[in-house]
Amino acid sequence: MRYSKFFIPTLREVPADAEVVSHQLMARAGMIKKLASGIYSYLPLGLIVIKKVEQIVRECMNEAGAIELTMPSIQPAELWEESGRWDFYGKELLRIKDRHNRDFCYGPTHEEVITDIVKSYITSYKALPINLYQIQTKFRDEVRPRFGLMRGREFVMKDAYSFDVDDAAANISYQKMYDAYCKVFERCGLKYKTVEADSGAIGGSFSHEFMVLADTGEDFVISCDSCDYSANVEKAPLKNDHVAFSGEMKAIEDVETPNAKTVSEVAKILNIPEGDILKTMVLDVDGKLVAICVKGTHDVNLAKVKNYFGASVVDLAGAGEVFDSMGSPAGSCGPVGAKIPVYGDFAITAMGNFSVGANVKGVHKINVNLGRDFEFEDMGDFRNAEIGDTCTACGGKYQITKGIEVGHIFKLGTKYSESMNAMFLDNNGKRKPFIMGCYGIGVTRVVASAIEQNHDESGIIWPVELAPFKISVLPLAMKDKDVVDAAEKIYMDLIDKGIEVLLDDRDERAGVKFKDAELTGIPLRVVIGKKTLAEGKIELRARTESEATEISFDGCIDTIVQKLEEIASKA
Ligand code: ATP
Ligand code: MG
Repeated sequence: MRYSKFFIPTLREVPADAEVVSHQLMARAGMIKKLASGIYSYLPLGLIVIKKVEQIVRECMNEAGAIELTMPSIQPAELWEESGRWDFYGKELLRIKDRHNRDFCYGPTHEEVITDIVKSYITSYKALPINLYQIQTKFRDEVRPRFGLMRGREFVMKDAYSFDVDDAAANISYQKMYDAYCKVFERCGLKYKTVEADSGAIGGSFSHEFMVLADTGEDFVISCDSCDYSANVEKAPLKNDHVAFSGEMKAIEDVETPNAKTVSEVAKILNIPEGDILKTMVLDVDGKLVAICVKGTHDVNLAKVKNYFGASVVDLAGAGEVFDSMGSPAGSCGPVGAKIPVYGDFAITAMGNFSVGANVKGVHKINVNLGRDFEFEDMGDFRNAEIGDTCTACGGKYQITKGIEVGHIFKLGTKYSESMNAMFLDNNGKRKPFIMGCYGIGVTRVVASAIEQNHDESGIIWPVELAPFKISVLPLAMKDKDVVDAAEKIYMDLIDKGIEVLLDDRDERAGVKFKDAELTGIPLRVVIGKKTLAEGKIELRARTESEATEISFDGCIDTIVQKLEEIASKA
C-alpha cells in the first residue's frame, strides 16, 4: 500500500474522552473515529486489524469443525418472548419498532435465532453434533460505554452455538471450543488466562472466560498462589474457615447515627473500623424479599446469592420495599428483629460486638453478637473473594490480577431448547431437547486488548500476526530520484514476496514519517536516506529496538525478510 493513496488520519492530540491507552492510540493512529457514545467507525487501518483477528478466529473455528453462517442483526420480539428473555433482558437490549408498530430488537446475542434455525431443519440425532457460528456486529446499550472499542455499544463479536444429543457429547463440543479459543489468543500473540466463570443456576465448571491480562482490565481475576485454580472474582468460592468469635460480649445499645447511609459514614460517627460493622442488603430473589448481611468491608456478590437460592433473577429491592419490609431506609437496616429472612456471609462467624442498623431510621445497634442477639436463617458464601482469602481447592491463598474478558464459553444445557421447544428424535425415536453451548469472542475488544498489552510511549507495538502492515518503507527524501527508486524497488520486491508493506511516499519530513511509523506500530521499518544510500546502505529497525542497523542495499530483501522472521519468532 502507498501511504499517499491510503487513508491513515493520524492525530498528534489525544482525544479528551480517551481514558485508556488502547483508546488513545487507536484514535491517534487513525484506526477509529467516534460517531456517538460507544459507536465507532472503523477507519481503514483499524479495519485491517479487525479483519486479521476475524480471520484468525475463522480459521480456528473452521478447524474445530464449526460452520459459518450469518444471521440478521435485527430480530423480532416474538422469538425473545418464546425464550422468555424479552421481559428479562434489561435496558441493554435496544428495542425498536417497525412502520407497522411491531417490536424488534437489535441483536445483542443470537441464541434465539440460532435455536429457531436449528429446530426448523434438524429433527434427528443423525445430524448432530453441529456447531454454527457467525462474525457480526452486535449492539448492547451498555450503561457505561467507555474505553473505545473495549466496551462499545456497537461491536464485532464471533458467536458460536453448539447442539448435541446429550451431556457427554455437549462436553466434547465445549472442550473443542475451549481448545480453539486457546489457539485464537495464542495466534493473536496475547498473554491470557482462562478462568472459571459463574455459570448461573446451571452449576458445574461449565463456563470459562478468557482474560487478557492488563492493568486497565475491568475484570478481577482470582488465582491461587499454590495451585492452578483461577476464576472470575464473581465465581471464586470461599468456605467457612473462620474461627467463631469467643471474646467477651458487651451489652447491646442503640446509638443515634443521623444521616449516615453508608458503612463509612456509620464508621465515622461510631468511631469504629468499617470491619466492625455489618452491612445489610435487602434483595428481591425471584419476587421474594430476603436480607443478606456481609462484613462492612466486603461486597455482596449477587451471582453467588443467585446460585445459593437457585434463583432466576436477583435484584436490589426498591426503596419502598425496603422500608415496608424492614421498617427503615436501606442505610439503617439490620438483622436484629427483622421481619424477612436474613442470611449471613461466612466471614461474619469471626465477628463479635459489631454494629448493625436498628431498623429504625438514623439508629444503629452496637455490641451486637450472633447467637445472643439474633440468628441467621443460614450462613453461606455471599461475597467476592479478596486477596489473601483461602483457596477452597488446596488451602493456598488467593491473589488478584486485572484482566479484560475477550472470550466467554458457556454450556447452556437445555435452557433455550426447552423454552423454545427445540427437539430432535434420538436413536430410540424419543423426542429430546438439544443440549446447547454458546461461545463468544469480542473481536473488536481483542484489538483493543492487544494494544493494552503491547505499546510504549511512542505508540502501538503490534504482535506481528495482527500488524496491519508488517513493514514500512520510509524514503526520507522524496525529491531525490535515487532514494525514491530504491524505495520503490524494495517496496515492489516485498510485495512480490507476499509481504504486507506500507510505502510512506508522502512528501513529509523524516520526523513525521518516523512518528507515524511508531504510532501505527508497524513491526519493521526500512529507512532509505540520501546520505546512507550514497554509501550503498539502508537502515533497518524493529519497532521494539531503540537503534537502527545499517545493511547494504544490494541484496537487502533477504536481510529484511530474515529480520521480519526474527521479530515474528521472538513474539
Ligand atoms: P462484559 O462482562 O464485559 O460486559 P459479557 O459477559 O456481557 O461481557 P458475553 O455476553 O460473554 O459478554 O459476550 C461475549 C464476548 O463479547 C465477551 O467475552 C467480550 O469479549 C465481548 N463483549 C461483550 N460486551 C462487549 C462490549 N460492550 N464491547 C466490546 N466487546 C464486548
Ligand atoms: Mg461474559
